[in-house]
Amino acid sequence: MKINVQKSILEIVQGDITQQETEAIGNAANAALAGGGGVDGAIHRTGGPTLMAELKAKYKGCPTGSAVITGGGNLKAKYVIHAVGPRYSGSPKDPELLSSAYRKSLELCTQNKISSIAFPSISTGIYGYPVEEASRIALKTVMDYLKEHPEIKMVRFVLFDSNTLKVYQEALTELTNAF
Ligand code: ADP
Repeated sequence: MKINVQKSILEIVQGDITQQETEAIGNAANAALAGGGGVDGAIHRTGGPTLMAELKAKYKGCPTGSAVITGGGNLKAKYVIHAVGPRYSGSPKDPELLSSAYRKSLELCTQNKISSIAFPSISTGIYGYPVEEASRIALKTVMDYLKEHPEIKMVRFVLFDSNTLKVYQEALTELTNAF
């Protein structure tokens, strides 16, 4: 599924984020930037040890709702943007923290002249954020950013499993019909 937001493209596909050829890929990292399972484990395995070395050298962790950038090591993508989404707790702060993780990632793209990025579904794995709500927040945040930032030409959500793909597709259909 693919839509235009002004002159930019927003895409939703099923796949593996580690194989994307976008300039950057997003990672669902933890606040310690310590490496973990899920998509973070896959990105570090494929990217190789330079990712962790750069994280350790440059950053002392990353607050929830924010993001940091490294090179892509052995990945096809030149950069990895390590975003820290919230662990779902049902708190009213969860939506803003999740939105902020995506927004800060996109701001890093702008600052580093990166025009395409692929995101995984941040927080909806080990961190337990319900996909229905998380998908709406993720898509709305990206659409709002693209409206103001034509320098980002393409954002692709790469969903690992078919259920997450379906929920994102439904959320995007709802959001586009609401315009
Ligand atoms: P979090 O701790 O933020 O919840 P997870 O890594 O547990 O992060 O999960 C986030 C999402 O990433 C889940 O939907 C999971 O299925 C998905 N995922 C896991 N591996 C990959 C991969 N290689 N490519 C894309 N998505 C992946």
